[in-house]
Amino acid sequence: MNQTVSQALARKWRPRDFDSLVGQAHVVKALSHALDNQRLHHAYLFTGTRGVGKTTIARILARAVNCEQGISRTPCGKCQACVEISQGRFVDLLEVDAATNTRVDEMRALLENAMYAPTAGRYKVYVIDEVHMLSTSAFNAMLKTLEEPPGHVLFILATTDPQKIPATVLSRCLQFALRQLPPDQLADHLAHILTEEKIAFEPGALRLLAKAARGSVRDALSLTDQAIAYSAGHVGEETVRTMLGAVDQQVVHQLLQALAVGDGKALLELSNALATASAPFGAILDELAAIAYRLSVAHFAGGLDADDPDQAALQNLQGAFGAEDLQLIYQIATHARAELHLAPEEHIGFSMALVRMLAFKPGGQVAVGRTMPLAPAAIKATVPLLAAKPAAAKPVVAAVPAMPVEVPAEVPAAPVMESTTPKGPSPALVEEFDESPPWDTADDLPVAQSKPVVPASAPASEFKPQPAYTQSANGHLPSAANWPQVSQEVPAKGLTRQALVQAELVEASRDGEVLHIVLRTAIKAYTEPSMATRLESALGQYYGSTVRLQMQFGEAQQTAHAVQSETRRQALEGAKQALQEDPFLKDIQNLMGATVVSGSERTLSNTGPADI
Ligand SMILES: [Zn+2]
Repeated sequence: MNQTVSQALARKWRPRDFDSLVGQAHVVKALSHALDNQRLHHAYLFTGTRGVGKTTIARILARAVNCEQGISRTPCGKCQACVEISQGRFVDLLEVDAATNTRVDEMRALLENAMYAPTAGRYKVYVIDEVHMLSTSAFNAMLKTLEEPPGHVLFILATTDPQKIPATVLSRCLQFALRQLPPDQLADHLAHILTEEKIAFEPGALRLLAKAARGSVRDALSLTDQAIAYSAGHVGEETVRTMLGAVDQQVVHQLLQALAVGDGKALLELSNALATASAPFGAILDELAAIAYRLSVAHFAGGLDADDPDQAALQNLQGAFGAEDLQLIYQIATHARAELHLAPEEHIGFSMALVRMLAFKPGGQVAVGRTMPLAPAAIKATVPLLAAKPAAAKPVVAAVPAMPVEVPAEVPAAPVMESTTPKGPSPALVEEFDESPPWDTADDLPVAQSKPVVPASAPASEFKPQPAYTQSANGHLPSAANWPQVSQEVPAKGLTRQALVQAELVEASRDGEVLHIVLRTAIKAYTEPSMATRLESALGQYYGSTVRLQMQFGEAQQTAHAVQSETRRQALEGAKQALQEDPFLKDIQNLMGATVVSGSERTLSNTGPADI
């Protein structure tokens, strides 16, 4: 292999005519038609990202109009004009890089020159690259020439940013948008060139190069140049992957499979192995997002693209994720990618993103831990891929072990702790986490969870006795034992409700229609006569009798509030205990050195006692 040949692929294979141009068929067709019919416009504007062929097309056009064999879509390539244009020394081709020649006097000098007839060719061709960089006065100078163009002048403007070009200039140009080349078309192009150059290659290597070039032919060719030098003449997939710092698809598939079966342990072990191998975490997150996108498309298209080189591997993943899962993976991956620099270490940011994908996984009621959101059949389909990696395809990140997925025989009914369960976006879920006692409710709010339901607008004095309660309550007396429960059932809100749940029953007796109740509270404010009146009214409605209330000031123990607090404390103790034994948390502690911040634990209200 000749080194000088290999280093010049981009230059050597620069298309000399429209037939050898890759892609941009829509532009080629329009220009060919104009050339063959001698109906040239005096100014063209080519837009598109870098490396898609703007200046290449401009030069082909310059040859097509100046070839000594006549104007046609197929310049001869042999005459003096064609050769000199290829070599960049044709006197009537003026190539200007507007990024470096933005000054108005330079532009003016250039345009004054346009008045004179071409020296050697048929047309004076001005190719102005990155034309959006011109200053306003330079644009104005050019506009004069564009408005009254001499017949022998052809303007070819190229830009990556057409938005910055004044409308007055745009309106005088025939505009063509050049497209980025799809990766498979680029890969085919590279295969053609390497075959011609007699350089051995692996198709997978070309796919990687084409992908890395992001639609630019020029970048694809210069990357291929590098790959040839890097791989000593054989463009192999592994070599190219190492050169590009590209991500081994197998690793990404393993991560997704662990996500599919909800295996947090496997996820974090993979992440650790990647850290040991100094893997490119940002690129892996990109890949996760890209695969989530491809699987989402497959969802709606009814299947994966048959040409997708990863079709077999993705097929297994497709059944494992729902549309929501894929949205979530995409969102978390892209966000984590953007915030990777904020993480204490990239590895930590990456691991947290994986844990988040697992924790937020829709459909799993137990949000964290080894949930089993898949049908057993789906797990069977994904597990072999993890367990048996093909020996031939050795990943670059060699430290990543093949990861057998542990599928627990049954879902452990571990209590879910808020400290490991991030709050979901669903308002219903947030509500469940709301720990504030209902008696904190302000006076003008309806009583939370009170029975019977009281309309928010109804004043307390207008409460109608509820038959269900009066029947059961009428004739009965409150006792010290049932008072904590009764005090929660009495229809009251705000301060009245607080006074009830903060009071204990001292004594209760019935005298005909009149119920005598003595309560004791440790809160002085609740012993005010006005409060006694409100309590008499509420209790009277509850019991369907006239109530005479005496409120004592003193220590109160058998209150609803005290009972509830104790139940909560016990539940939290139990939860802390369960948390310490939670296998997933243990994994995190072992793998990442995490600790549970004491006091941060919360019980879920639906697993704890009923709220007051
Ligand atoms: Zn020619």
